[in-house]
Amino acid sequence: MKQIPLVDLKAQYHAIREEIDEAIQNILENSQFIMGEPVKRFEEEFAAFCGVKYAIATSSGTTAIHLALIASGIGAGNEVIVPSHTFIATAEPICHCGAVPVFVDVDPDTYNMDANLLEAAITPRTRAIIPVHLYGQCAEMDIILEIARKHKLTVIEDCAQAHGAKYKSFPAGTLGDFACFSFFPGKNLGAYGDAGMVVTNNEEHATRLRLLTNHGRKLKYEHEIIGYNYRMDALQAAILSVKLKRLATWTEARRRIARTYNYLLENLPIVTPYEEYWHAYHLYVIQCEERDNLAKRLKENGIATGIHYPVPLHQQPCFQHLPGIKDYRLPVTEKLASRILSLPIYPELTNDDQNYIAESIRRFFIKS
Ligand SMILES: *Cc1c(COP(=O)(O)O)cnc(C)c1O
Repeated sequence: MKQIPLVDLKAQYHAIREEIDEAIQNILENSQFIMGEPVKRFEEEFAAFCGVKYAIATSSGTTAIHLALIASGIGAGNEVIVPSHTFIATAEPICHCGAVPVFVDVDPDTYNMDANLLEAAITPRTRAIIPVHLYGQCAEMDIILEIARKHKLTVIEDCAQAHGAKYKSFPAGTLGDFACFSFFPGKNLGAYGDAGMVVTNNEEHATRLRLLTNHGRKLKYEHEIIGYNYRMDALQAAILSVKLKRLATWTEARRRIARTYNYLLENLPIVTPYEEYWHAYHLYVIQCEERDNLAKRLKENGIATGIHYPVPLHQQPCFQHLPGIKDYRLPVTEKLASRILSLPIYPELTNDDQNYIAESIRRFFIKS
């Protein structure tokens, strides 16, 4: 029987093996493993790719968000507005700053932060908004930025799933005060370990972020501010430089695969993704009333699926101590959690495999 994973990192490695192996070999020969020239080069390449002035490499997407919050001056008693329908890492760093995440519901079509609910969530303690460009599609940035400006709030874009996505004509990550990227292996641009990036157009922020990532260090043993060890490895940077050159092609492949799914899954009792803005299809997420049974059937057919995410953040055990957490009513988020299913999508997914996946879904509905 066929075995189709949700993401196939091995197939990608084999397609670019020679260049990757050479890049790794070079790092081993140079034996400078932390930061250094490869990291500086990748920062420049990534800034150019996004169309921003400054890119500061970090140890992960989570630490990138933490640093952006610190650089925004978020601290004890502040509130930061985030969607509840996202990965935990969007909200965790807020708590590490001593601040409180405030959760809003999402739009039922795009699954992104419902910008119309923002104003009602703002209090005198609100300092920032973190829109997440979920699954690879940008949140409604015009409205979010307008509200942020009106209330003097910082906007930190969570671009962990949105490398190469666009909001209207703007690349994801160019509109907020900061944008944070993750290079977790399974992301659209993935390292071979943990890595991340903060981008910004503000020079002062960039300088401070750079200090914060590396022990607040100006000179080797001169520490200007209390910082962190949130640096990127040279190995990851060298690998990411090799991959970045292919990202546009890979994104096109993801978009083609998404269009094919849309076509193959027509006229079934499922909801296929609604593309409002130039989608980078980190994930291809459908909605289905019988989600659990469908996932089970696909598994029996050798097809891996995922749920992103099964438990909304406002229902996570780790947040139950937050003030007013029991009062949240986020009906769209809660309904999605029981209906969404992520199908395999990666640039190397073959036509044959995609047809097999679609056929398996079709047969599920005929029999049940
Ligand atoms: C992956 C992810 C993160 C965190 O990135 P890491 O590199 O794993 O720390 C943050 N937000 C979202 C939406 C993500 O998908």
